[in-house]
Amino acid sequence: MIAQHKVEQVRYLLSQGVSQRKIARIVGISRGTVVAIAHGKRRDAPEPDELDGWPAHGEPRRCPGCGGMVYLPCRLCHVRSLNSFQRRLAQRRKRWRRLLQQNGSA
Ligand SMILES: [Zn+2]
Repeated sequence: MIAQHKVEQVRYLLSQGVSQRKIARIVGISRGTVVAIAHGKRRDAPEPDELDGWPAHGEPRRCPGCGGMVYLPCRLCHVRSLNSFQRRLAQRRKRWRRLLQQNGSA
């Protein structure tokens, strides 16, 4: 089991066209793990398309997150958590870009 942020980092570096060997070195994981992530064998992060087909059924309840009367699970709170996830991801990507530049193109 590797850390979620490392999975995100590998996906980001893959999207930048960085070689799997180099990604393994930068992130500090085995090349096999990089390959597994590249082939979509790891899926730990929530994705926006999970909002499609949102399960809304039964009676509205008081949401423990935002306090609104909603169909649980609360869609608003879910979107908020996705947004904060995206924000953290954006901050990490800035750091990763720097890291990539420090590693050069060799
Ligand atoms: Zn809520």
